[in-house]
Amino acid sequence: MIIVPEKEIAGLIGRKDAFEAVENVFAAMASGAAYNFPVIREAIGHADALYGFKSGFDRSSLSLGLKSGGYWPGNMAKGLTNHQSTVFLFDADTGQAKAVVGGNLLTALRTAAASAVSIKHLARKDAKVLGMIGAGHQSAFQMRAAVEQRDFDKVIGWNLHPEMLVRLEETANELGLPYESVDLDRLGAEADVIISITSSFEPILKAAQVTPGTHVACMGTDTKGKQEVETALVGQAKLFTDEIAQSATIGECQHAVAAGIVSEDNIIEIGAVINATHPGRTSDEDITLFDGTGVGLQDLAVASAAVELAIQKGVAINVDF
Ligand code: NAD
Repeated sequence: MIIVPEKEIAGLIGRKDAFEAVENVFAAMASGAAYNFPVIREAIGHADALYGFKSGFDRSSLSLGLKSGGYWPGNMAKGLTNHQSTVFLFDADTGQAKAVVGGNLLTALRTAAASAVSIKHLARKDAKVLGMIGAGHQSAFQMRAAVEQRDFDKVIGWNLHPEMLVRLEETANELGLPYESVDLDRLGAEADVIISITSSFEPILKAAQVTPGTHVACMGTDTKGKQEVETALVGQAKLFTDEIAQSATIGECQHAVAAGIVSEDNIIEIGAVINATHPGRTSDEDITLFDGTGVGLQDLAVASAAVELAIQKGVAINVDF
């Protein structure tokens, strides 16, 4: 069995590898070659922790396994990241344990890759202004991956907690792009692509604030009750997601589905657009919305890539098991 420790991940897998892995697995999901198993997520009644498993199997790449982990709010005080995860891969032919891979950085890379895949396939080709809602840990990863998909010339941002906006400014500067903090009216009016990556339980972005032609990637809503945009915006947009079942129950579309504004039939798997079995955006006036709920198959895809790279670069730790 191979171990790839968390500390090795940054030196192994980059945005390009993560993008390819995630785009391929979304395509495999839409063609029926890959599927996610039901998600388990429990408050364990200890350390205020939320713990769970995301798992699945991709027959096209033979990636089989699970991501185990969750959220430990007291970790920060111990000098640890609150979100903790580890990916376990199994040999699809024998069921034997194949690899244990640190999953913290991989989670950020695969989540950023998902919105980047949505921008590649759904945003207008002439998109110039990137709007960021949210300035937490994930936001910098999101911005770096997004700007590789279009010729953006400016980043604008909003966050509930303004003291965190410095992260967006620093990341834009690192990418050589001008940055401005704006209110939500300006963000909606000026951005061609909007990424929301927050822990919000209330709609932040309103339908009236978003202009025709915008692509919105809602990446923060991954749990029942969370919400980042008004249901009216979901009702107006052409809807795409990683997995329809998650979108309708724990993703951004959950509220519009519960309210009867849209149904699961209105939500398209992004993999169908990648596979060219769905046209995606058909007009420069369309508002497209990608509901990135986060699926276990994304984790398995990037972890499998990390294992291959670790073997190639000689940093995989082999253990008898
Ligand atoms: P973080 O704790 O570093 O940052 C949280 C962000 O949300 C900050 O911008 C903060 O200002 C904002 N925020 C907090 N409470 C809010 C509220 N009540 N209303 C509006 N904004 C609020 O978190 P992070 O690591 O950047 O993750 C952000 C979100 O992304 C989390 O909700 C996390 O669960 C989600 N996430 C989703 C996926 C996925 O695959 N879809 C993957 C990883 C993380």
